[in-house]
Amino acid sequence: MDYRALLHGSNVLDIVRRDKAAGTLSHAYAVFADDADCCRELTYLIAETIVCPDGGCGVCNVCTMLKDGRNGDVKIYDEALGAAAAEKIVEDALMYSVSGGNKIYVINNAETMNASAQNKLLKTIEEPEDNVIFVLGITKPAAVAQTLKSRCKKLYFQGADLNLLLSQLIEEYGDTDSVHRAVAFSDGNVGRARAMAGDAAFASDTDMLIALLRDMLKSSQVCQQEKSLKKDKDSMLGYIDILEIILRLISQYKRGDRICGQGGIAELADKFTDAALAATQYLLNDCRRRLESNCSPVSVADTLLFGILEVKYKCR
Ligand SMILES: [Zn+2]
Repeated sequence: MDYRALLHGSNVLDIVRRDKAAGTLSHAYAVFADDADCCRELTYLIAETIVCPDGGCGVCNVCTMLKDGRNGDVKIYDEALGAAAAEKIVEDALMYSVSGGNKIYVINNAETMNASAQNKLLKTIEEPEDNVIFVLGITKPAAVAQTLKSRCKKLYFQGADLNLLLSQLIEEYGDTDSVHRAVAFSDGNVGRARAMAGDAAFASDTDMLIALLRDMLKSSQVCQQEKSLKKDKDSMLGYIDILEIILRLISQYKRGDRICGQGGIAELADKFTDAALAATQYLLNDCRRRLESNCSPVSVADTLLFGILEVKYKCR
C-alpha cells in the first residue's frame, strides 16, 4: 500500500501545508482518523511537511534523514506512554533544536497514554517553547482528555479518495469484484477496505444479502431464505451492519456517486425507491433494537425477512 500516494491530497495535509505557507503553524495538531494505519502515516507526513524545505517531497536530504530516523529534531512515539516517558518529553522540549528549526513530537495512538501522562503533557502543549510542535494521532477520541484535545488544532481525516484506494487495492489483490466492492463499502477507511478485500466470509455474506434484497418476492421464498441465515445474535447483528452499508451505497448511487454501484448495488437501486430505503432502514433499526433487548434471533430473522418482503410489496 503506497500511503504517500493515497494521502498526499488529503484535507489534513492540505491544512498543514497552508499553515506552513502562511507562517501560522499550530504548536499542536491532533489528527482524528478511525483507521490506525492512515492515522500513523498522516502524523508522519505532517512532520515531513513541516521539516522539508519543499513542504514534504519525500526525496530530499531532509526527508531521507527523517525516513531513516536520523532527524534529531523529530521524535516519533508509537508505544503507550506512561508518566515517566511524558516527563522526558517535557524536559526534552525545553532543549535547543539540533537544526535551529522546529522540534516535533509525534505521538501516535495518543489514546493509549494514561491519564497521568496526558496531564504531564498538557502544560507543555498549552505553553510550549516557540519552536516546539506536537502532533497527536488519535483513533479513539473518547480516551483522550478533553483539555488535551482542546489545546490542539483538530484535523479530521475524511477517508481516502476512493479512486486512488481502488487502484492501490487492485495492485495488491488483483482486479476482482470483491476488491471493487470492498472499496465501495469501505467509506474510505483503508484498513476496512483491505480487511474486506481479503475476507471470503464477508464477500459471501454480502452476496447472499444482496441476492435476498433483489430476489425475494413471495412469502414462500422466506422459508428458503431463512435457511441461508445463521440465526445467532452476532451473525444477525453482522447481517444488519452489512444491510445498512448496502442501503447507504444504494442512496449514494442514486445521488450520482457511480463508484458505489459495484457488486449488484446499481441493480438494487432500480428496485428500491427512496420510500423503500427509508422503510428498510426503519426495519433494520427495529431488528437491531429487538436483538439488543435479547429477543430470539430466530424471531428477529422472521421479522427481517417478512419486513423486507412487505417493503418490496408496497413499493412495487
Ligand atoms: Zn523533502
